[in-house]
Amino acid sequence: MKLPSFDYACPATIAEVIALLAAHGGEAKPIAGGQSLVPMLAFRLTAPTLLVDLRKLSELRQITITDAGVALGAMVRWRDILDAPRLRQAHPLLVAAVEHIAHYQIRNRGTVGGSLAHADPAAELPGIAVTCEAEIVARGGAGPRVIAAADFFRGALVTALRPDEIVTEIRFPAWPRRRRYGFREFARRRGDFALAAAAVAFDETEQKFCNVRVGAIGVGDRPVRLNAAERALEGGVIAEAAVAGCAAAASSAVDPPDDIHASGAYRKTLIGVMVERALHDAIGGLIV
Ligand SMILES: Cc1cc2nc3c(=O)[nH]c(=O)nc-3n(C[C@H](O)[C@H](O)[C@H](O)COP(=O)(O)OP(=O)(O)OC[C@H]3O[C@@H](n4cnc5c(N)ncnc54)[C@H](O)[C@@H]3O)c2cc1C
Repeated sequence: MKLPSFDYACPATIAEVIALLAAHGGEAKPIAGGQSLVPMLAFRLTAPTLLVDLRKLSELRQITITDAGVALGAMVRWRDILDAPRLRQAHPLLVAAVEHIAHYQIRNRGTVGGSLAHADPAAELPGIAVTCEAEIVARGGAGPRVIAAADFFRGALVTALRPDEIVTEIRFPAWPRRRRYGFREFARRRGDFALAAAAVAFDETEQKFCNVRVGAIGVGDRPVRLNAAERALEGGVIAEAAVAGCAAAASSAVDPPDDIHASGAYRKTLIGVMVERALHDAIGGLIV
């Protein structure tokens, strides 16, 4: 399908990008990898009058690993994450999730900032951001601001970004060295968006679950932490019965709508199964 017509700009600085977005009052859109925006244009789901290309903003391509955590610039691509060996130690759950994203060609172009701003409820990065209490840095005419991931995603394809703001960075808190994790998703075909996915993490202290995180993707209009499922494990002994209780709590906590890909009832069951499998991966040999 042919795209609607639009003007195109490719500025070299963030300040110029923001000035262009501000001048067009919501009629302009940034373009990063184009892997979500171009299909949206083709289907006439959006029709900006100006596309502002971010590809010259090399300062947004940084991956920074410090004692405080991991920071990814908005123009970091999926391929960059998978090709950064230090990230596998610094944030193994993030890398495990990114391995499920789309196909080779899309991973070569799709970016961190594009995924966050697009806010697909079934996308992996927003889910990991919410599960791990990441912060998203946005910059616009009023300067930079930091938004908790839990507050950033407002609904399907809706975020807290203002029309003149771009995402510049996402920051993940430091990953404790011995933290255990699991990520499981189910998609009809390899590379498709997940019908449902679960991200879990916990620290093991004297055979007990501590600092439990259970995140769910694809079962609502945005990614969520499942607090009831976390409570089912927190402080308890690491045992099969606890895993089953957590999976049941996860399933009860969600109320996904029916859509063309699956019924809500199917997704409700599926998230329990994904949580159970992810927990088993995280627990490994801890259950004796
Ligand atoms: C066939 C196919 C399968 C896919 N499967 C998956 C999948 O399994 N999991 C998954 O997570 N994704 C999947 N994707 C989406 C892919 O990961 C996209 O690349 C990603 O969601 C958007 O990144 P982008 O850089 O391509 O953004 P673009 O398409 O360039 O932009 C997307 C949106 O974000 C805005 N935007 C871009 N960058 C910024 C920024 N820095 N600040 C503010 N706004 C910005 C744009 O204006 C636009 O509204 C798939 C895509 C395709 C085509």
